[in-house]
Amino acid sequence: MPVQRAGKATHQETRAHNEQLVLGTIYAAGQISRAEVARQTGLTRTTVSDVVNGLLRERLVLEIGRGPSTGGKAPILLEVANDARHLIGLDLGDKVFRGAIVDLRGSIVRSVEVAVDDRDGDDALDRVFGLVDQLVAATDRPLLGIGIGTAGLIDTPRGTVLEAVNLDWRDVPIGPLLAERTGLPVYVVNDSQATALAEHVFGGARTPNLVVVKVGYGIGAGVILDGRLFHGDGFGAGEIGHSTIRPDGELCRCGRRGCLETVASSRAILDRLAALSPGRITGLGAAIAAFRAGDVVVRTVVGEAARELGLGVAWLVGALNVRRVVLVGSVAGFGPGWLEEVAGAMRGGALPLLTNETTVEIGRLHDDGVILGASALLMTGELGLSLAGLPDLAAAMELAG
Ligand SMILES: [Zn+2]
Repeated sequence: MPVQRAGKATHQETRAHNEQLVLGTIYAAGQISRAEVARQTGLTRTTVSDVVNGLLRERLVLEIGRGPSTGGKAPILLEVANDARHLIGLDLGDKVFRGAIVDLRGSIVRSVEVAVDDRDGDDALDRVFGLVDQLVAATDRPLLGIGIGTAGLIDTPRGTVLEAVNLDWRDVPIGPLLAERTGLPVYVVNDSQATALAEHVFGGARTPNLVVVKVGYGIGAGVILDGRLFHGDGFGAGEIGHSTIRPDGELCRCGRRGCLETVASSRAILDRLAALSPGRITGLGAAIAAFRAGDVVVRTVVGEAARELGLGVAWLVGALNVRRVVLVGSVAGFGPGWLEEVAGAMRGGALPLLTNETTVEIGRLHDDGVILGASALLMTGELGLSLAGLPDLAAAMELAG
């Protein structure tokens, strides 16, 4: 995130600020006249005209014809050109790294996947570089920047992964490294926090408070309070995956025992199934199919994992009194049967007055949440938009479910 400097703004800074303000206003409005931009921003008409001319030259904004007249000559309407810039969104949150080229309205133009294959450390970082190089080469539009959602504890202002247990990353300055490699601004956020941003902005009903729990290979939550992402004092708000739920439980990759991830993640479910019926269920897809077909062993194992997760959710609901909980990630693929177990355990795990009005649902953004959330963060940072200023794109994107 740009660092604020004290002192008088230079001419150039004022110009950049005005440009962001005008662009953000046009973006949020959809279609708007110059006069209306001036009214909403408080800038003079001359300044707005000047800035708009620059934006037209950069092809960031288009004139799309005349609007309804309010007496005099009908004003020309302006609109942001959605594909004037592309941005790159990365999802480094699970077993597969995903990258996408996204346009200014959050539509995914193209996406690429690369298997992580249990690689970690520098090997995993090299895969990220390869993915970014591939995406940079795949677009002919100017790039606005790179937004990354990644597992682990992230120092967002410094763009640094403080610790990602599953990737064996400690103090990896992935933001500065990619900025140096590409010359682009890079924004880094925890993957669950990215999903929370995406569900808040793009996921339908916009509620001021929201908890999104991402359950895949790892587990983490993102917390939106009063319409803003809540980072916590050390950027770790919602990092519940390594909170202990069974003190004498299985050894976790973090070195401790009985973390929530050791009982409720995809890995925990598959390990348990492998122990109970060796060689029968080989992957999450097969487990989901067997669960839906009513396989007794799978139902039992998944039900248990769901109830442990529900207890974790109950703690969040007790701590925050948030009434909307959204579950995302590959494990949410088990669907309604799994969801009911999570919700039931959540209701039984905290004061009824807190849980009675709390809804637990499965997210609507499917696999795109992390990429869209990281993109939203990048757009708010680079285009000077507020989260509330980003339009709800759920309808435009024709999201299923
Ligand atoms: Zn752990």
